[in-house]
Amino acid sequence: ATQLYDDQNIFAKILRGEIPSKRVYEDDVAIAFHDINPQAPTHLLVIPKGAYVSWDDFSARAPDVEIAGFIRAVGAVARAAGLVEPGYRLLANIGQDGHQEVPHLHVHVFGGRPLGPMLT
Ligand code: 5GP
Repeated sequence: ATQLYDDQNIFAKILRGEIPSKRVYEDDVAIAFHDINPQAPTHLLVIPKGAYVSWDDFSARAPDVEIAGFIRAVGAVARAAGLVEPGYRLLANIGQDGHQEVPHLHVHVFGGRPLGPMLT
């Protein structure tokens, strides 16, 4: 079942500039900003500019150029944050069991300390 995109979700408002965020990156297809409740010394969120509910929605519907651009943006954000040499973790929560709270696709970027095994 396709989930409809809610354009009043918090990240849609951040994209439109209706809610402030600490933005660290922007290009044609994506923006990145600091998570408001960081779980690591560096905790960034990368989101596509397009209206996609989740990784599932994005991977099914987005044009190839947006998918390629988004993947490059995630890498660029981590690189710009200086995370490549020490290493970092990417995470995308999808849907209910995935504990996705905001219904606009976002990739978490964690770093700045040894992260240990997978988060639960
Ligand atoms: P999810 O569980 O959906 O993968 O993660 C949502 C993330 O968004 C959480 O880590 C939460 O701290 C973050 N978040 C929720 N509301 C806001 C907000 O208004 N601004 C920012 N910068 N982050 C938010």
